[in-house]
Amino acid sequence: MQKIHTYLSTTIMYYVEKRLVISAAHNLHLSYESRCENLHGHNFVIHVYCKSKELNQDGMVTDFTHIKKIVKEHFDHKYVNEVLSVNPSSENIAKWICDNVENCYKVSVQESEGNIAIYERDE
Ligand SMILES: [Zn+2]
Repeated sequence: MQKIHTYLSTTIMYYVEKRLVISAAHNLHLSYESRCENLHGHNFVIHVYCKSKELNQDGMVTDFTHIKKIVKEHFDHKYVNEVLSVNPSSENIAKWICDNVENCYKVSVQESEGNIAIYERDE
């Protein structure tokens, strides 16, 4: 009797999640009247998600301290309007972080309780 071999394809993925809190100021440029156009600040709670099918030579997806360094250096105690070349919304902050952190595919930016913007890159 012939033996039947079944090959299961397994996809492996490693993930890391980094949570940070930064204090920053911004004022939005909007097409409608809003108090958000006035200069104000937030204690932003940011979650950075990275993934990789393989670990790097250090056994990591992305080093937590590298994520922290990039985000803190650019946004902590900064005027976000001077950091981004686009309207400094939470959505655009999330996109900037995702574009600048190695292996990042998703970022959430909470500017206040209950108000969260999420940017996710499609595969
Ligand atoms: Zn704001």
